[in-house]
Amino acid sequence: MQKPTEPHPARLIRLVLGDQLAHDHTWWHRVETDVLYVMMEMRQETDYAWHHIQKVLAFFGAMRRFAEHLRQQGHRVHYLTLDDPANTQDLVQNLTCILASTGAQGFGYQLPDEVRLDEQLKRFAAGSGVPVEVADTEHFLTTRSELGKLFAGKKQYLMERFYRVMRERTGLLMLGDQPIGGQWNFDHNNRQRPPIEHVPPPPLLFDHDLRHLYALVERSGVRTIGSVDAAHFPWPLDRTESLALLAYFCTHLLHRFGTYQDAMSPHHWAMYHARLSFSMNVKLLSPMEVCVAAVAAHHADPDRITLPQVEGFVRQIIGWREYMRGVYWAQMPSFAQRNFFGHERPLPAWFWTGRTRMVCMRDAITGSLTNAYAHHIQRLMVTGNFALLAGVHPDAVDRWYLGIYIDAIEWVEITNTRGMSQFADGGIVGTKPYVSSGAYINKMGHHCAGCYYDVNDRTGAKACPFNALYWHFHARNHERLLGPDARPGMMVRMGMTYRTWFKMPTATRQALLDKGDALLANIEDL
Ligand SMILES: Cc1cc2nc3c(=O)[nH]c(=O)nc-3n(C[C@H](O)[C@H](O)[C@H](O)COP(=O)(O)OP(=O)(O)OC[C@H]3O[C@@H](n4cnc5c(N)ncnc54)[C@H](O)[C@@H]3O)c2cc1C
Ligand code: SF4
Repeated sequence: MQKPTEPHPARLIRLVLGDQLAHDHTWWHRVETDVLYVMMEMRQETDYAWHHIQKVLAFFGAMRRFAEHLRQQGHRVHYLTLDDPANTQDLVQNLTCILASTGAQGFGYQLPDEVRLDEQLKRFAAGSGVPVEVADTEHFLTTRSELGKLFAGKKQYLMERFYRVMRERTGLLMLGDQPIGGQWNFDHNNRQRPPIEHVPPPPLLFDHDLRHLYALVERSGVRTIGSVDAAHFPWPLDRTESLALLAYFCTHLLHRFGTYQDAMSPHHWAMYHARLSFSMNVKLLSPMEVCVAAVAAHHADPDRITLPQVEGFVRQIIGWREYMRGVYWAQMPSFAQRNFFGHERPLPAWFWTGRTRMVCMRDAITGSLTNAYAHHIQRLMVTGNFALLAGVHPDAVDRWYLGIYIDAIEWVEITNTRGMSQFADGGIVGTKPYVSSGAYINKMGHHCAGCYYDVNDRTGAKACPFNALYWHFHARNHERLLGPDARPGMMVRMGMTYRTWFKMPTATRQALLDKGDALLANIEDL
């Protein structure tokens, strides 16, 4: 049995959380031998959701490498492994023990990204009896409260407006105070479906042997989802590898990032996406350096890596990513209770197995279980779209998204899931619900040709379930979306859809509603 690790005396204890692996933080600028940095693998963190096994391994693997890196730089690190007998598996209890055993006279931490940890650390700090220093993570381009202040008094936070502010502030793709190319947004050039025979470059995969870590997680009884080849773990675990992934993206993928951003392929799971979200979310890469690298790649080869490609990418990071963080801190904790449509349905069991005849859903779910990854359009317009059309409770949807993806941390997961994907916030993030029938999935991908269901049929025995559910969703939510309490502007955005619905003959509408009811009654068998 392993011996408990006893930390040596120290003047100051500083906590480094698992998503605070930034190499250039001010803390690391000076080596101080009386400062002890503390890192912990804890059941508190493995058990607050059913995480994908690759997510658990990626976090612990990256934390271990980071601790090693700090030691090599001369810093003192106290690292509690999951099986250390001194590990109480609880953040506050561990910190209390370490403070007592080291005799430290001060405690420091970096602002956590989650409300859960923020509150826990505030409580601990208040009762610790020692002076406490709170540092910024120095990762984000905005402060926690900035977006809330920008849109103070507004019911909706307009991402496009926020994005312009961010472009001006960072100077990215700007000429003075004007956007390069004369436009802020080039989306109309983007978003195409590639021909079926199109083969994107393969995703860059790493090859770590994490069998020892996998055995530890298994032995400890941590409940996980998904699968892993622990002998060949594919995700980046340190800064060097994260930089290699960024370089690979800029060289091989960025030139078609925007063009095929929304495309879905049954054969290529990563398409032209960067797969940088894990590295960024644990802060191995900073958002600014990622954008600077992409813009530099554009300047070096503007004919191949055109402005619309790079603008689309930069917008995801200084726009959407920062924006979601701002929404999180402006709206939590009440955001986590929001359920605008009053949805109550449980998540179908096949979300955990991928056993469904809907090929687009099967592919997105099995891909997520295999890779701990799905790209944005699969998350939004396939799994998220289905959950919203079917009326699944946002708590259940959140639990699934928070567990399954390698990059899932609450601040960016819940805002995307409850906000953007489920419209459970009633329209803080999105201007209208992101829903579609099978036609959109067919337009953006090649799944329908091989599906048991017929994308062109709406009510027959083998009709694509997205079709009737799409109309069922609109019919049952007419009052909520366009009634007297509707958001201003909703009529403009959704009026066309409702006009199409009400123009249908009554019998057609009834057939769609009956079909929708039947699908929902048999949801486990789709
Ligand atoms: C329902 C749902 C749940 C999501 N959950 C998460 C999550 O838990 N963690 C997470 O990091 N992202 C989440 N996203 C956003 C987005 O899908 C992922 O960031 C992206 O798929 C990560 O893959 P990538 O690095 O290949 O991204 P790319 O498509 O290559 O985009 C580049 C980068 O832009 C940023 N980005 C793009 N879109 C968003 C967005 N909507 N919000 C925030 N950042 C964005 C990410 O940092 C991403 O790495 C979610 C989206 C939806 C619709
Ligand atoms: S037919 Fe419908 S269920 Fe099947 S792949 Fe197409 S959109 Fe998905």
